[in-house]
Amino acid sequence: MADYRGECHCGARSNGRPLRVSPSSNMGAEALPYGPFFSTHGSISMSAKRIDGKAKAEQLAESITEQTAALLADHGIKPGLAVVIIGEDPASQVYVRNKKRRAEACGFHSVQHTIAKDTSQEDVLKLIDELNSDDAIHGILVQLPLPDHLDEQTITQAISPSKDVDGFHFVNIGKLTAGHTADAFVPCTPAGCILMIEDELGSDFSSLNAVVIGRSNIVGKPMGALLLQRNATVTMTHSRTKDLPGVVRNADIVIAAVGRPDMVKADWVKPGAVVIDVGINRVEKEIDGEMKSKLTGDVDYDDVCTVAGAVTPVPGGVGPMTITMLMFNTLRSARLSAGLEG
Ligand code: NAD
Repeated sequence: MADYRGECHCGARSNGRPLRVSPSSNMGAEALPYGPFFSTHGSISMSAKRIDGKAKAEQLAESITEQTAALLADHGIKPGLAVVIIGEDPASQVYVRNKKRRAEACGFHSVQHTIAKDTSQEDVLKLIDELNSDDAIHGILVQLPLPDHLDEQTITQAISPSKDVDGFHFVNIGKLTAGHTADAFVPCTPAGCILMIEDELGSDFSSLNAVVIGRSNIVGKPMGALLLQRNATVTMTHSRTKDLPGVVRNADIVIAAVGRPDMVKADWVKPGAVVIDVGINRVEKEIDGEMKSKLTGDVDYDDVCTVAGAVTPVPGGVGPMTITMLMFNTLRSARLSAGLEG
């Protein structure tokens, strides 16, 4: 089905569009498929392609639903996803509800365990143990953040690596880093990002420079590993990086995963670059004379669109792909549990 290299049976596949050579006047954007390109300071600007993560996620979900039905019909296996939520954080409740809804829409066996905020670590570990041994469950997810008295590392590492559909277990992190993704689970956000980049650039990023802004374990680091696996020359940047705009300006592929609204501006971006905005920031903005709460990414979308080749919007870009990749991982887990190709 998939090994995160664009060869899955779920439709999560690069369209393999060949790279188009752009005119030599285009300031080092030779390997990128967009053009013509002009600097932000030139007289003509381009309008980037809007990468529609929502449409891609829908398309992928349809394929997952079909594969799920086939797995049930041919092997009597229904992918099972268990989501554990501890406490009543409102944002977490929305995320969990959406995951459950999506799992049901894909035809999965979907279970939610909502447990009290003051549940002891011992009891949480006991629940994870039960889910690890439950043959009807192929994916286990503990919604983060956890209440303060619980140790995130102990809890995420208690999930069996073979059911760790979030890809947070050290076994899965190790496999990804070593390039052994055939039976590993890759964290959902970077897994979704890489599929969107492959749609734009094909699945081999040889000769392309990629800059990842942010070095978290759930986004930045696995993103770097996936880009490297596809032969990009990868630069990892973070809060201590010197001259971040100068570094980003070299990138054919930019991944922003910081959590700072509208940080990446047009004059940071190489003409024609593919820009993936992972950030989700809630900001107050004046809309029609009224202050309203609005979601925005780490990329100043309108500004960056004047110079980039393709950009993901927020909302409607990375977010919908993340949730669908969770279903993708759960289906893979169910297939692997039956000895089928993942
Ligand atoms: P995090 O806080 O764990 O990591 C942020 C990273 O940004 C750190 O490595 C830090 O060094 C770096 N950073 C901070 N300030 C910086 C600066 N000024 N310049 C350069 N780097 C800087 O965050 P995370 O979990 O990786 O999430 C990042 C963003 O992505 C958040 O907005 C989060 O909400 C969002 N997110 C979205 C999805 C999705 O599905 N769309 C999934 C996960 C995270």
